[in-house]
Amino acid sequence: MKQVTILGATGSIGLSTLDVLARHQDQFAVFALTANTQVERLYQQCRQYQPVYAVMFDAQAAEQLQNKLQQDGLETRVLAGLEGLINVASHAHTDYVMAAIVGAAGLQPTLAAARAGKRVLLANKEALVMSGKLFMDAIKQNDAELLPIDSEHNAIFQCLPGQPTDNIHDLGVKRILLTGSGGPFRQMPLSRLQTVTPEQAVAHPNWDMGQKISVDSATMMNKGLELIEACWLFDTTPDFIQIVVHPQSVVHSMVEYDDGSVLAQMGQPDMRTPIAHALAWPKRMDSGVARLNLFDVAHLDFVPPDYERFPCLQLAEQAAREGGTTPAILNAANEVAVQAFLNKELGFPGIAEVVESVLGVMSGRCAENLATILDDDEQARLQAREFIDQTRSKVQ
Ligand code: NAD
Ligand code: MG
Repeated sequence: MKQVTILGATGSIGLSTLDVLARHQDQFAVFALTANTQVERLYQQCRQYQPVYAVMFDAQAAEQLQNKLQQDGLETRVLAGLEGLINVASHAHTDYVMAAIVGAAGLQPTLAAARAGKRVLLANKEALVMSGKLFMDAIKQNDAELLPIDSEHNAIFQCLPGQPTDNIHDLGVKRILLTGSGGPFRQMPLSRLQTVTPEQAVAHPNWDMGQKISVDSATMMNKGLELIEACWLFDTTPDFIQIVVHPQSVVHSMVEYDDGSVLAQMGQPDMRTPIAHALAWPKRMDSGVARLNLFDVAHLDFVPPDYERFPCLQLAEQAAREGGTTPAILNAANEVAVQAFLNKELGFPGIAEVVESVLGVMSGRCAENLATILDDDEQARLQAREFIDQTRSKVQ
């Protein structure tokens, strides 16, 4: 029986993970569930799955959850804050950790799971973007296992023959073809992007996801973050990765080999497939996902990315090449800009402008330790906030 901790249990990936686990109760037990502030949802999950621990990042929310569970006579122990998250991510009784907190907030608990030698199922791409070297070193030094959940990276992993940490260039890999749908604004006239609303941006054509990653998909910053993620996971550089816009989201990415073979992983756009793959690996198990009907799909399109429409792609590629803390700076500026867009403080094209301006005033440093990374993350947030406030005061 594998004991599973889900960091970010109340989110889109968290719910999909619980759905898969519920199909295999003979193999997996829910050890801990965590959330930020969503008391009611975590409470319902605790009632259903009866984990040993529940963690709320927010201290007040933790108290409320504790009261509700006590009234029901449930034995789930409630913890709070970053300490609580780190505790369950590295707990001696946890075998697998699903890292599905969104954004930089997931970095420290995810790193703790790696340092404790767990099987880390990595959905939280921002953690790897921020601290790629530290994180990969922690995996190797502590005999942890790293299985990618991001559908593209999980697809690439499935198209490779070896272990997650093999150097792909020794395996005859010529390049990685990283696919992305292009999001909801792929064909919208550029002049209309200024007035798109958060509601339009989060309405992804193929995937049902949390708000932040949905906006990232609309700007294609998501693909840029994924490029950086792929460089770390597969020990390569942006020169060996081609981004391919594929609107149907049926091919989840490809690997091209020296002999001309191109291997693709295909399926429905449903995250339960990579989640079930990573839980069962190296075996396979049912995920509950509908079968892919190729006759319904009928045809597949592939086009090159449009860098004018998606300036975030260029910014992320630049950050990937610069390395050090530059990707952490890019990520932090983007998180602040996306939140400002969702709050209607910033127009859609403003997201890329904020990121560009922050990258323009800050230079990355060597990302050898967590303190430096977190410091640059904080500085980038302040710079992004300042830029947004300045832009707003000019408009008003
Ligand atoms: P979501 O917004 O639906 O859920 C986020 C979860 O994180 C929630 O449980 C929330 O309570 C928790 N959380 C948020 N802020 C927190 C904080 N400060 N401290 C502790 N917990 C916090 O997001 P999602 O769509 O499930 O995405 C989660 C991660 O997975 C992201 O990094 C995303 O890029 C990645 N991912 C998601 C998908 C998808 O299909 N949703 C696909 C690929 C990768
Ligand atoms: Mg993805």
